[in-house]
Amino acid sequence: MSQFTAGHHAVDELDSRHQLTAADRCDSCGAQAYIRVTMQSGELLFCAHHGAKFKEKLSPTALEWHDETSRLFESN
Ligand SMILES: [Zn+2]
Repeated sequence: MSQFTAGHHAVDELDSRHQLTAADRCDSCGAQAYIRVTMQSGELLFCAHHGAKFKEKLSPTALEWHDETSRLFESN
């Protein structure tokens, strides 16, 4: 998983705004979303799996990449 590193502005918004909830669902598979991507055309929600899958493709044009996948590994 070394290629899945936090990008430019992924981490510093974790504990402030845009907290994703169980009601937020991945646009690709319907699982709980942990990543919200803001594009010029709108917002996309992804689970950890699809966020990682699409990050390389989308991140160059994303306005914001909000990543809460670290919550998956902090199980308290
Ligand atoms: Zn998904």
